[in-house]
Amino acid sequence: MRVCQWITLKDSTGAAVHTGPAWVNHVLQRDLSADSQLSESLAICQTDSGVASCSVTTESENSPAYYLPHVRRLRGNVVPGLEQMESAIEFLPPQIADAKMYCPSCQTDVPVPLKKAFPEPYTPVFPRDYNPVTNNKFWQLVALEVECPTCKGKVRLEPPRKRWTKTVTLYGDEAVRETVARPFVCIALVGGSNHFVESACDRVNALKKTLEPEREPTSWRFHMADLHSGQKRKRHKIFADWDREKCAQAVNGLFNIIAESNDSLFVFALIYPIGGSSMIEAKRKAHMAILCDTIYNFTQLGVSPRYTFDADKAVGSNRSVIQHWARSAFLGSERQLMYLYLCHGVPVLEPQFVKPGSHICLELSDFAAFVVARELHCWQNRRESEYPSSQFGNVYYSWPDKEGCARERIRGVPRDRIFPTNAF
Ligand SMILES: [Zn+2]
Repeated sequence: MRVCQWITLKDSTGAAVHTGPAWVNHVLQRDLSADSQLSESLAICQTDSGVASCSVTTESENSPAYYLPHVRRLRGNVVPGLEQMESAIEFLPPQIADAKMYCPSCQTDVPVPLKKAFPEPYTPVFPRDYNPVTNNKFWQLVALEVECPTCKGKVRLEPPRKRWTKTVTLYGDEAVRETVARPFVCIALVGGSNHFVESACDRVNALKKTLEPEREPTSWRFHMADLHSGQKRKRHKIFADWDREKCAQAVNGLFNIIAESNDSLFVFALIYPIGGSSMIEAKRKAHMAILCDTIYNFTQLGVSPRYTFDADKAVGSNRSVIQHWARSAFLGSERQLMYLYLCHGVPVLEPQFVKPGSHICLELSDFAAFVVARELHCWQNRRESEYPSSQFGNVYYSWPDKEGCARERIRGVPRDRIFPTNAF
């Protein structure tokens, strides 16, 4: 049972590094040597002055009750039905897929049981008094006990762990093309560290002021589907007055903002063919593929990615469905042992779904997703797009292939590799 308790964590010298309330499964502060029923697990307490290692004791053996409260719960957002949530990690970097651990009984390296799911996620722990600005301390799990897949003996496993040094915010939007020979989902992420995100936003606002000097730039947003289609444009309260030249000016302006930020902004575009699966299944796989890829690669650098998606994505008439499964897939995945390998012990918050256009970078990700989807749509119909993706400069493109999911930072969407011409 999960309870909120007053606990003291001590480092190796015996000095208290944290005293205060925290969510724990069982009493933490116990004398190890006095009670052989207890097993030790280590925690790293990261404070402003550095990292302290603390030993935390938990009741174990029969009840693997390691201490593992969760940041979302600590903030009062209870996740109902977590244990029923389906995990959806479909792609793993080869380094993780081949991960081995040493089994002392077998006296050899054995595969890590990556698919093992826990009743609760082993994600980093934040004390209740955690303050993201002044009090940067939280606990990472250092070691846990798992079963050897060969001899079923107990193996102490230390998953990879990095120090959290920075956060990047990534803004995501998607574009779907269903009426082509090979339908697909495209998800674009645009973002970076605060400073670069702000400067990109300033540039978008400046572009808006040039185009519509009389209007407050934050009162309207670029939306490529409305800008591109003549019919939708006519009905749009701002774009209705725009002629061809002004549309081109807007599009070129957006291309320039991304191209000129090539060294500071991250731009990802994942293309996922819908193939034999349902739309919702393809979207789910696409989201998880881009999340897994970015979580792994950012946290490996000690960087925590924060995701904000445009929520205006209905499937049929159900507006909430996408957010529901995205949440479910993400939270479910955190329960798997492989997630500890994916996130390097760096905290990654659940992706947020926000109102369309509520952040300027969402306009850039809408633009990126549209441009990439448009080009692939035209390519399948054997013509050139009006908006060549090469104008972005370098973009991290990824797409599923025979071996899993490929990714390359290149100029121009590699359309013939994603959709070979003999495929349509
Ligand atoms: Zn073994």
